[in-house]
Amino acid sequence: MVYRLGRFGRFMACSGFPECRNAKPILNLIGVPCPKDGGEIVQKKTKRGRPFYGCANFPNCDFTSWERPIPEPCPVCGGLMVQAKARTAKCTNGDYTGPIPGGRAQQVAREEEQELATAGSR
Ligand SMILES: [Zn+2]
Ligand SMILES: [Zn+2]
Repeated sequence: MVYRLGRFGRFMACSGFPECRNAKPILNLIGVPCPKDGGEIVQKKTKRGRPFYGCANFPNCDFTSWERPIPEPCPVCGGLMVQAKARTAKCTNGDYTGPIPGGRAQQVAREEEQELATAGSR
């Protein structure tokens, strides 16, 4: 199996690709469960290359978000929070907007910044 860059991003493919159809997308897990069905949320890209987040159980689950969901639950209602700005989170239920609680998410935010910087230099 080798890494290949395809129309839909990086994916694992048999080295015999495209003759070999044993290709499957690399799921870019972000370690946050889907608020709808508890499935894994994965980072995806639109055809234009804009990143968005969706449930790995798509199309069975239609959860999508333009903003990155973060592992820390909402301090008000315990619901899913997304990253609004580099160090600001907001609850998808709309009852909290503020600093990202905890250190883990801030690290995620930094990784995201680096990711974007790398993508921009390409
Ligand atoms: Zn889901
Ligand atoms: Zn909330």
